[in-house]
Amino acid sequence: MPEGDTVWNTARVLHRALAGVRLTGSDFRVPQLAATDLAGWTVRESASRGKHLLLRLAAPETDEHRTLHSHLRMEGAWRAYAPDERWSARPAHLIRVVLRSATAVAVGYHLHELALVPTAEEHTLVGHLGPDLLGPDWDVDEAVRRLAAHPDTTIGEALLDQRNLAGVGNLYKCEVLFLRGISPWTPVGAVPDLAGTVTLAQKLLAANRGRWTQSTTGSLHRGRTSYVYGRRAQPCRRCGTAIRKEELGERVTYWCPVCQPDHPATRPG
Ligand SMILES: [Zn+2]
Repeated sequence: MPEGDTVWNTARVLHRALAGVRLTGSDFRVPQLAATDLAGWTVRESASRGKHLLLRLAAPETDEHRTLHSHLRMEGAWRAYAPDERWSARPAHLIRVVLRSATAVAVGYHLHELALVPTAEEHTLVGHLGPDLLGPDWDVDEAVRRLAAHPDTTIGEALLDQRNLAGVGNLYKCEVLFLRGISPWTPVGAVPDLAGTVTLAQKLLAANRGRWTQSTTGSLHRGRTSYVYGRRAQPCRRCGTAIRKEELGERVTYWCPVCQPDHPATRPG
């Protein structure tokens, strides 16, 4: 599942394949960009902002700069291929955009929120995001300030709200709260050390940069990469209690009821 580290990795793949490269053609398979042709444009850089991807481009003759924005959501992906390589990652009907050059072809599958905007107006697409856990401007204090502004929200929901901090998805949310011994239903205002919690989230994402297997346990072996995420009814790695799974807000959450005791006044029923 694409979380901040996966998007960061994807941005790096695109950067290595296309940065400094002049595009020879483009093929957008979404209605809003169907007439767009990026032939002649040069890719300046590829960057991530939380879970958003930003491909920055320069026009052939003018000094016009534009950014191609995409969001992976649950199932999106970008792949870079050699010009003569078969596009094998996903079925062709999932392709939303193809960017061609003499040295590489980038194919975007099942992308969401594809948009081409002047680079100076990127903020209209990503300006609402909180500090990016993997960004150059990561700011613990600002993330804590934004979280603390809504003390009654559950910490499980608040960590997923990209307006507070950008890059945490459901895996890291569940894992961070387990490692900190915090029930996902705890109100933000009752979390003892918000700075420690977001700092740990940042460390977990940063540790998974540069590889596609996400692990919070230190193990890359299948079935051993998480403490609670995806482990419903399996024994807690610390205390042996069966891990639980329940809906929290719009997402499911996994937790150990012993290692992450309920905060009084939080759980309905
Ligand atoms: Zn436990």
